[in-house]
Formats: sequence, C-alpha cells, structure tokens
Amino acid sequence: MDWLKGLNPEQQKAVKHNYGPLLILAGAGSGKTTVLVSRTGRLISERVAQAQEICVLTFTNKAARELKHRVGVKLGSTGKGLWAGTFHSFGLQILRRFHKHAGLSPYFGIVDQSDCNAILKDLLKDVKNSGKDKFDIDKILSMINDRRTGIAPAVEAFDEYHEMAEVLAPKFAKRLEHLGVVDFEGLLIKPLTLFKENPDILEKVQSMFTQVMVDEFQDTNRMQMDLINQIIKPHQNIAVVGDDDQSIYGWRGAEIKNILNFPKEHAKCEVIMLERNYRSSAEILAVANAAISKNKNRHGKVLRAEIAESTGVMPEMFLLEREEDECEFVVSEIHHFQRQGHKLKDFAVLYRSNTQGGLIESSLRRANIPYTITGGTSIFDRREIKDLMAYLKQSLAPNEVSLRRIINVPSRGIGDTTIEKLSEFALKKRINFVDACRFWKEAEVQDKAGESIDNLMKFIEDLPKNILDYNIGSSPGAKMVEIFQGIGYREYVYGTAADPASAEKKWMVVEILGRILDSYLGKRSYDVDSIKSFIDAMLLRDDMGGEEEDQNKVQLMTLHASKGLEFPIVILAGLEEDLLPHKNLGSDIDEERRLFYVGVTRAKQRLVMTRCQQRKKNGVVRPVAPSRFLLEIPKELYTEFPLGVRPVSGQEREDLVSSFLSKLDSKLTPAKK
Ligand code: ATP
Ligand code: MG
Repeated sequence: MDWLKGLNPEQQKAVKHNYGPLLILAGAGSGKTTVLVSRTGRLISERVAQAQEICVLTFTNKAARELKHRVGVKLGSTGKGLWAGTFHSFGLQILRRFHKHAGLSPYFGIVDQSDCNAILKDLLKDVKNSGKDKFDIDKILSMINDRRTGIAPAVEAFDEYHEMAEVLAPKFAKRLEHLGVVDFEGLLIKPLTLFKENPDILEKVQSMFTQVMVDEFQDTNRMQMDLINQIIKPHQNIAVVGDDDQSIYGWRGAEIKNILNFPKEHAKCEVIMLERNYRSSAEILAVANAAISKNKNRHGKVLRAEIAESTGVMPEMFLLEREEDECEFVVSEIHHFQRQGHKLKDFAVLYRSNTQGGLIESSLRRANIPYTITGGTSIFDRREIKDLMAYLKQSLAPNEVSLRRIINVPSRGIGDTTIEKLSEFALKKRINFVDACRFWKEAEVQDKAGESIDNLMKFIEDLPKNILDYNIGSSPGAKMVEIFQGIGYREYVYGTAADPASAEKKWMVVEILGRILDSYLGKRSYDVDSIKSFIDAMLLRDDMGGEEEDQNKVQLMTLHASKGLEFPIVILAGLEEDLLPHKNLGSDIDEERRLFYVGVTRAKQRLVMTRCQQRKKNGVVRPVAPSRFLLEIPKELYTEFPLGVRPVSGQEREDLVSSFLSKLDSKLTPAKK
C-alpha cells in the first residue's frame, strides 16, 4: 500500500519515521495532520506496529473519527483496533479499564461543568462568610481546577477568591470521590495518580501502546504532557505535530514550551519542518503571513503557497454600519457565492465570541439557510438534554448528582421537605443519598412521596431495558422520546416554558436527542453497553457524527473551534478592537493574533472579512474601531470595500432584477381558481 504517494520529500521523511521521538513543526495547512494519517497507515501496513498498539491523540473526537475512517478505508480489517481520540477520552478509557485500582465503580459517572457548579454551590453553603451569591461560582471552579492541574502561577495576589478556592479545593475533591464521579479534569488527573500508585498498570499501558502520536501538540497542557511522557517512557516512540503560531489555548493552561522544548527534552529527537502550504491560495497566505509576522517569540517558519497558482482574488474586507447589517451581509454573501455555484457546505462563518454567533445564527434562520454550529455552547447545554441524560446516567451509574437533578422533574410530589429529610437521614446513617432514597420509610418520609420515590427508582432501573425494547418499525431513540412523554416530561416542558413557541423548541430538543441516540447506535449492537458508551460520548461532547456530517449546511463556529479544519470560503466576522483582540484578555495580544492567524488559514479559496462601525455593548450602541490585526496587514494585500454591500456584476444584477420581477409578477397576477 502506498502511503507516500503524492507527498513531498519532507512529508515522506516523516511518514517513514519508525521509532524514537519525532517532532513535526510546521505552519497551517502544510499537511501535518495528513502526515499523521499516512504514518499511522504505514506503521500498520508495514507491520511496524499492530493497529491496536497505536494511540493517536487528537484535539476533537471528530478529528479522531476522521482519522480512523481514512485509515480504515485503505486498510479494512487490518486497521481495526486503532485507538484515536482526545486526551479526555483516553483518560476515560484508562479509568474504565482499571476502575478498581482507581477506586471507582465500573459504571462511574462523569460530571460536567454545571454539575460541578451545583456541587460547589452546595459546599459553599457550609463555609463561613461565603454569603449568598457573594462569589462567582464559575470563577472559583476555574481557580480550583487551576490548582488541581498545577496551572496556577506560584506567586499571585491573594484575595478572597484565592482564599475560598484554597478552602474549597480539597473539599471539592473529597465530594467528587464520595459521590463516585469524575469530572473533566479528573479524567486527566486520575490516570496520572493511577500510574503513580500502580507501576504494574503503567507498565501494562506502556506495552499496550507502543506508538503514540499527537496532533495539535502546541495546545497540550502540563498534565497531558505528563501523561504522554509516562506512556512512552520505555520506548520513546512518540510523534508530535504542531504549530507554535496556532497555540490558542494558553488561557486554558496550554504551554507553548511543550512544543518548543520538545527536542531538548526528548533525546535523539528528529525534527522535520514542512514549508509548503497546500490549503490556501497565495493571496490568502500572504495575509496570514503578514499577520503572524507581528508576533514576537516565534519559532519562525516560512510558508510557501503550493496550490496550483494564485487565484488572482484577494481577500476582501467589508465595512458594515451595525451588527444587524453584518448579519444580513453574511446572508447576502452566501447567496452571492451560491449563485456562482458554491454549495452551502463550502462556507464557514467564524467569529470570536458566542454572542456574535447567536446573532448570525438567527439571521441565517430567518433567511432559511441551513446551518450547523460546531463546538461551543450547543444543544449539549440545553436543560432538557441535561435532564434526560441525568436519567440515563442514573439508570447505569446511580449517583447523587443526577438523582437530585431529576428527583422531582417532572414534578411527582417529592418536595423540598422530603429531600431535606432524605439528606439528613443519609448524613446520620453515613450512607449516600441514593441509598437513603431506598429507605425512605426509615427517613420518615410521608407515604405518598415515598411511593413516588419507589416508582421513580423502578422507572430508572428499567429505563435502558425499555428503551431497547422499541417497537417494530420504530427505533430506540423514538422509544426513548415516547417513554419520557409517558412520564409527563412533555407536559412539564410545556408547563415551564414562557410561551408555546419556546415550549415547542424545548420539546424538539428532546426529539433531537432521540435522533442523536439512533445515529450513535447506528451499526453498534443495540445493548446496554452501547447506551453506556453513548452517555460517555455525550458527556465528552463528542459530536455524534453520522447524519450531521455530510449535510449540505453552512458551518458556524468560534475561531477556537475552527482549529485543524478547512473550508473553500471563510467569512471572518467582527474584526474589531475588543472583539478580536478580545477585551477581557488584557495582555495576551499575541495569543489573540494567533487566533486571527488560525481563522485566516482555514480558508482555501476565498476569505471575506467584515467589521462594523458600531456595535451593541451592554445594551448600548457604541462606535467601534477596526481590529489592530487588520491595520497591521499591508493594504495592498486585500481589497477594502467602502461602507455597504458587495457590488454586483452586470450579469448578477440582471439575474436579480429578473428574479425580483417574476416574484412581483406572481404577486400581482391573481392565482387561478
Ligand atoms: P493545520 O495546521 O491547519 O491543522 P495541517 O498542517 O494539519 O493544517 P492538513 O490539514 O494536513 O494540514 O493539510 C491541508 C490540506 O493540504 C489538506 O486539504 C490536505 O489534503 C492537503 N495536502 C497535504 N499534503 C499535501 C500534498 N503533499 N499534496 C497535495 N495536497 C496536500
Ligand atoms: Mg492539522
């Protein structure tokens, strides 16, 4: 099998590398990910390693899926067993496998940020001087996490937040342990502890994975680096690829030095640079290079455009008056390029903040342009999804966090007094809340509420079985929706929504979850284990793939979520001071500039940039200045349009006019009876 075909000499060199450390440091679109895929395939087909001995760590689960797919297409069953996923899914896999040693039950649950917030809020109640609503829980949680992961700088101003974080950090860890659940940070911390305390397990893992590869290495943090170093210790077969210019997660603890110091810290490391860009047109690349050249402390790479020739089309910059105009402009641009034969899936609209995304989303919706939102706050954050997931989690891994969430949702007569009684009883008897619910009689809960608890417990216990017992001609997802309708969840949604329209939307979320379940189950076996792995996948925000992926839809996403992806046409919106660079970031302008660079380098053929003259901030419309990143690019590298919209060509104008006239005509001519 020829895994080297079509690759340039440097890429081939990387693909042919067999053993020992390898660093591929190269700019955007230079084929780093391509090399990882080919190398994975070649290692397997040339029997350097078996598929199941290879571990590829990617930045998103979607990227992992793509890699497995590309290798699988060429290798068929020889490619089976290859492990690819994010660091979080890697940690999860290790903990599931060695759960006993990690002190966890086989079906331990994973808690997400909102669960953690609830736990923290609860802990805060018992701390003196914590005052109601005095503290921003998100902020404390992130400070606690920084402490746990060793990200917090040693010297820092000590204020009441730090004090609180210090007090709560150990309590928080203890509470998670007591609940038998793991949070996202724990998915990295716990495997490290597990390895430290059980050298035999570490050895097992080391021999399980004899080849390790990491994509987007510039955004690994200290724990992830530790994890890698542990696994590769005996064999040092580690290949990492990355681009220091695309490091955009410093705010989350990613350390650029991981990539820059890699050769120093890994003896006999081979370093390969890739200098040709195969993605973007020469014109787009010129803008990207001009932008990033303003950063200090770079490793300094050149990127030459390699695709056939320059397209002759410059990146474009449009100025709009207000943000509403910008949104309308995005719509008109999509129509414009559609008329030139582009498909909807050719477009990505990229922005810095989710607020911008929301505005653009609603104008696409109004214009009936199908879109998907990749990453970011999405359906996973919807209350309805969280409720249903809590039921599912509870059915497979009983835990206090999800039980408390759903105990009276939809309402079933289990009020605060009952919950209080159960909590006190649990405390007194030193049992957990879930068990306390089983002994409601002893907890002196009234019969009526107690019977509700019994019914709920029975419902939860039977849930997976009942979902899988779907009707002929139907599906597990549809059955799940039906089951929840059966216990009054639909009425609950309608009863708690502000108006019928929003109730309908909420209920739709439930139906979407049903469809996601079906698409996840797909070819998997329809059993409890599959539902279990569905829950894990949902918790890790693994977009479920399947039907969503190949659809012809415009893609909306934040700049952060766009990493590693590419699109024929990129619309980069909101190039303004305070948005990009973002105002909350204080000093790290370089990281913001890298984010701009990431955005620009996603584009293959066309790059359309926009900015507004004024934007709403805290409810007040204010004038805004163009992004400094824009001003840094020499004017001759892009076309700037005066205020307004894209001038249309003669032909396009004629088409527009005649389509308008024919619409008008049909309105004026009375419909035939
Ligand atoms: P990023 O830094 O954005 O993650 P990357 O370095 O991982 O980019 P890839 O996504 O692997 O780059 O490749 C960019 C594009 O170039 C892809 O469309 C890929 O198919 C193409 N490509 C890579 N190498 C070659 C090559 N030797 N010949 C032709 N096309 C190539
Ligand atoms: Mg890549």
